[in-house]
Amino acid sequence: MVVIPAFAGMTSKRLKMKRVYAAEHGLMTERIKDILEEEGIDCMIKNMNLSGGVGQIPPIECWPEVWVMADKDYDHAKTIVKDLLKVSTEYRTSWICKCGEKIEGQFTDCWNCGIARG
Ligand SMILES: [Zn+2]
Repeated sequence: MVVIPAFAGMTSKRLKMKRVYAAEHGLMTERIKDILEEEGIDCMIKNMNLSGGVGQIPPIECWPEVWVMADKDYDHAKTIVKDLLKVSTEYRTSWICKCGEKIEGQFTDCWNCGIARG
């Protein structure tokens, strides 16, 4: 992981880097970086060191960001990220428990009977 906060703007221009993703939580950012690298796309994470401790939500300009190093990879990377986010959004749709309760998507367990989402 390369972090160059002080010169980030200048470096970005020279290398024609492009940001493909930013998120409040570093985990998704790491995952996206791994997947892009598997696809053979050079990328890096910025702001990872600013993401704060447990319970702290950093301001949006400090969110961890995934940048691709080469212009030519940008569209490809964007498509991959879009697909990934679509999947995670679908997972957040509400679900019906075996007991018949409708549960909001952000919950993984039924509030009524305690059974985990199957
Ligand atoms: Zn239930």
